[in-house]
Amino acid sequence: MPEKVVIIGSGPAGWTAAIYAARAGLTPLVFEGALTPDNQDKGTLPLGQLNLTTEVENFPGWPFVDNAALGQFAKSALPAERYVNVQHNYEGKRAHQGKRAAFGPELMEFMRQQALNFGTRIITDDIAEVDFGKHPFKLKQLEGPTHEALAVIVATGARANYLGLPSETRFKNNGVSACAVCDGALPRFKSKPLVVVGGGDSAIEEASYLTKFASQVYLIHRRDQLRASKIMQQRALEHPRITIKWNRVVDEVLGSDEAGVTGVRLKSTADGTKEELECTGMFLGIGHTPNTAFLKGQLELDAAGYIVWTTKHRTFTSVEGVFSAGDVSDSHYRQAVTAAGTGCMAALDAERWLAEKGW
Ligand code: NAP
Repeated sequence: MPEKVVIIGSGPAGWTAAIYAARAGLTPLVFEGALTPDNQDKGTLPLGQLNLTTEVENFPGWPFVDNAALGQFAKSALPAERYVNVQHNYEGKRAHQGKRAAFGPELMEFMRQQALNFGTRIITDDIAEVDFGKHPFKLKQLEGPTHEALAVIVATGARANYLGLPSETRFKNNGVSACAVCDGALPRFKSKPLVVVGGGDSAIEEASYLTKFASQVYLIHRRDQLRASKIMQQRALEHPRITIKWNRVVDEVLGSDEAGVTGVRLKSTADGTKEELECTGMFLGIGHTPNTAFLKGQLELDAAGYIVWTTKHRTFTSVEGVFSAGDVSDSHYRQAVTAAGTGCMAALDAERWLAEKGW
């Protein structure tokens, strides 16, 4: 028997779609992603990009709350085997003190649990290939069988971009990172100067976070104006340990195999002059690429690889019965709350489509 609804992806879009589909009695099957070194490297592990962030201050319904109270909430909401993933926030040496916004990883655990509570089934693997040419649709697991589905919701999100310099690749995991939250606390970054590349919200978020560890954070931006929201700009401009290097790009990452990153060579976008900056790490905050490689030739994608919605205000894709939600089809808003919103839309669209077909 084919699955009624398969959801691919486990960020806010995927879990919201699952909550709605499960409550509609569709017992959705979610492929939450594989725990592979490749996914770790690309930043596409289960629970999506929010799982790689710190405080989420703009998700409605989550004002600052006392850390201990949040710990009690987490303990009550999650089973023991999932509570361990967030326990360090509330207990032990790394426990936060006082009030704070919810952290991305705990929000994701709560969303996952909410979907499970209504009967969602979860497989911790990627869908590596799809065949949307015939119905029921076929979905091949990376490390498992091929599944059939009547409706599919793609919510695979997007991942962080890199500059593409050979020296950057050489020092990946040896000073080069696209995730301050994952790597910022490593000893090599402690009390050392660090650089963050980019001028958007992500770059400033990374830079602010890294000030906890670094002696100094240099934000390298290719223009003379930040792209980030006003409140984030203010945060960067006013922070005593963030220095913005305007009109510059990274020309080369410097270092050795033993020491890893020891500096960067910057190039002025104004006059081409070069300078070297000492640092032990370079963090990227330069935008994203949608996770759609496995969909090429199966769904209409735009020039940047995002899934195209073919009908205004609907989550319909170029294949009837396949819907998409979240960052995988949104190069514009890219917010957790908009991803969750479109996840809800996709589940409602799928439910109505299945009902129309009498399935
Ligand atoms: P973004 O807004 O697209 O910004 C990317 C930045 O990287 C831009 O400043 C861009 O420069 C720069 N850049 C791109 N390619 C580059 C290259 N090859 N070399 C050097 N610089 C390069 O991406 P984002 O910061 O990831 O944010 C994406 C979305 O998520 C936004 O809607 C943002 O508001 C949201 N977001 C929100 C929060 C929050 O509210 N807390 C946190 C993170 C992200 P130019 O400016 O010159 O184009």
